This record gives sequence, C-alpha cells and structure tokens, in this order.
Amino acid sequence: MQGWQDILSHQSKWSLDNASEYRLSSEDAAILYRDADFHALQKAAFQRRQKMNPGNKVTYMIDRNINYTNICTINCQFCSFYRPPGHDETYTQSFEEISLRISELEEVGGVRILMQGGVNPELPFDWYCKLLSNIKKKHPSILLDCFSPIEIDGISQVCGMSTFEVLKGLQEAGLDGLPGGGAEMLVDEVRMNVSPKKHGHREWMRIMQEAQSLGLTTSATNVFGFGESIEQRIEHLQFVRDSQDQSISQWNNGFTSFIAWPVQLENNSYGKRDAGRNKFLLGAGSIEYLRHVAVSRLFLDNFQHIQASWPTMGMEVAQMALFGGADDIGSTMMEENVVSASGTSKLAASEEELKWAIKRAGMIPASRDSRYRTLNVDETTERELPCPPPVLT
Ligand code: SF4
Repeated sequence: MQGWQDILSHQSKWSLDNASEYRLSSEDAAILYRDADFHALQKAAFQRRQKMNPGNKVTYMIDRNINYTNICTINCQFCSFYRPPGHDETYTQSFEEISLRISELEEVGGVRILMQGGVNPELPFDWYCKLLSNIKKKHPSILLDCFSPIEIDGISQVCGMSTFEVLKGLQEAGLDGLPGGGAEMLVDEVRMNVSPKKHGHREWMRIMQEAQSLGLTTSATNVFGFGESIEQRIEHLQFVRDSQDQSISQWNNGFTSFIAWPVQLENNSYGKRDAGRNKFLLGAGSIEYLRHVAVSRLFLDNFQHIQASWPTMGMEVAQMALFGGADDIGSTMMEENVVSASGTSKLAASEEELKWAIKRAGMIPASRDSRYRTLNVDETTERELPCPPPVLT
C-alpha cells in the first residue's frame, strides 16, 4: 500500500491534459484524509486549485437567501428551522414581502436570490409558478436559484406531477437554477439515521440531473460530521464525481461548484441525542474541515470550483481554505435562517467584508454570478498591508 507521501507525489504530476491518468482513487483519498501531513495536504490542494483556476483571483457573489416558508413535513433531526404544519410559529412569506427583499438586494448590487424553504404541503404548484413569474417581471436582472431537490420532490407529490414536469413548469415561469441544499451525506445509511423521511441519495441526484438536462444551474453541497466514517465521506465524493462525469458527457451541464461544511449541532434534536454528548462528539473543527476541503479539491477533478464556507467556519477559517483548495469565498447571503437556526451566529456578510477577507489573504476579489461569470475585478489595495501577502507557488 502506498503512503501519503507517494500519493501526493503522484498527484503533483496531475494536469488538465493527463487528468484521467492521475485521477485520485477512493482508497488513496482515504489515506490522504486520515494520514497526510496537514501542511503538505494544503499545499497539494492549493497547487491543484492553481492548475484548475490559475492566478490570484478569488470569486464571490452578491446575493440574498430567502427562506420563503418554514413549514415542513420532513423533520430532519439536525434542522432547527422548520415547523410542522399547524404549529403556531409557522410562516409563509407573501409575494410582496419576497419582492421587497429582492428590491433590497438590488440596492446593494445583488445578482441572484437563493430561495429555499421547507416541504410545505399547503402550497399548490400554481403558487410557485406565480411567485417566479411575478419576481421575473419585477426584477428581470436577478437570477432565481430556487427550491432544492427535496422541495421539488414535495411539490411533485402535492400536485401529482413528475419532478421533471415540475422543473419544466418552474423553468418556464422563470427558474434559473436549483440550490444545492439537502445533499448532506449522499450515503443512505447516514441519511436514514438523521433524516429518515428524506429521499435517498439517488433521488437527490436524479432531480439534480433532470435540472441539468434542462440547462438549469446547479451546485453540489455536502454536510458532514454525523458520525460517518472517512470512507463514507469519500463515498459521497465518489458519487458526486461519477454523476458529474455523466452530466458533463450527456448534457455538458454539470454542477458549477462544490461546497462542504460540518453539521451544526446547537438547538436541534440531533445535537441533543445521547444526553447532549452528540454536540461534543460530532460535527468537525477547523482542521478537519480544512482537510475535507483539501481532499475534495484533489478528488473532484471534474468540478471547476470549490467554495469556502464562512457562515459555518468563520471568515478566518474561510481565508485559510483559500490556501487549501478553495477558489471562491461564497456569497453575501444578506440573511440565512436554516443553517443559522442550528448554531451559526453570522447570517450575512457585506461585499466589503468578503473583499476584505480576500484582500487580506493577499488575493484579488472578483465578483461573479451563479454561473461563475466574472462581473467586477477589484485590483486596488486600499492601503499597504501590515505584512506582505503570502507567496503563492
Ligand atoms: S432541512 Fe429542509 S427538509 Fe429537513 S426539516 Fe429542515 S426544512 Fe425540512
């Protein structure tokens, strides 16, 4: 069996021209995840990022999350956001409220909304179509990435249509893409433990691939730290890599990016399991998170972009991820109510904060839209940095 040094040395020969020859196997990925020296792993992931996205630019997006309803019937154990139908804290936002939020986004130069909520059995298909067409009419320049696969599944069950028909109808009404939510761990053994009522990994991917076949924008997420093994984390990566190969070859439209973060364990029944011990045993700290990002960068050779997660890890750890495989720092969000309900305290970042984090890491901020089209590049330095930017090799 090869050691981590041999694997990293072999990986250092990877290039866009010989990618298939140097594709990282799941066995080698597990060795890197478990054994590789932290700094060596970060460096290898940074070098891979440079080969895939050369240069010193780090992208970000000005957008807003809108959680239009908290009514949900799925009861994921790690979720502190949802309320079951009939609960007195349920809400569903009106078209006017949603439009007002988008107007606020437009005022700060935003380019897209990421709208997701619970699986709400009270909303007919027509409600979603009217919502999207209403938004497109009032806010034509805003991209609409709305409704994760479990919501699409829920709509299809409520209205008795196939998920493909639902997606097609929503696209005609103005949908531009799907958020990557609800993937968590794409390993059914883990899903059954934490979200037994949620669809399995194949269903999540089937709906994403239907969206890709229609030309919609999609991204892939990964919440980890449910007590799964390293091999199961790699199984998730293997499944999305295989599916990405298929999507690119069939529709030339795969996931734009991959973003991972550890499960948040405050305020939810999953964190409170085992008399609260789960809160201390599960999730992941900064180092484990950074290892996860680095292995993802090396393994997902068919994903152009890897995002750092500032909402769950903080801006400083997100900066470190830029030196360990990530080439994008995510988005402003303006508000976030789903992940934050389980324990993150930071719900929004201004454009200036994201640019600050990128510049203070010695890199160049470049704003983008959800299709990763570059909008504005800011090469200015407001003042001399107190320490020189890191040397990027
Ligand atoms: S994570 Fe989504 S699907 Fe699960 S309970 Fe929360 S709102 Fe519902």
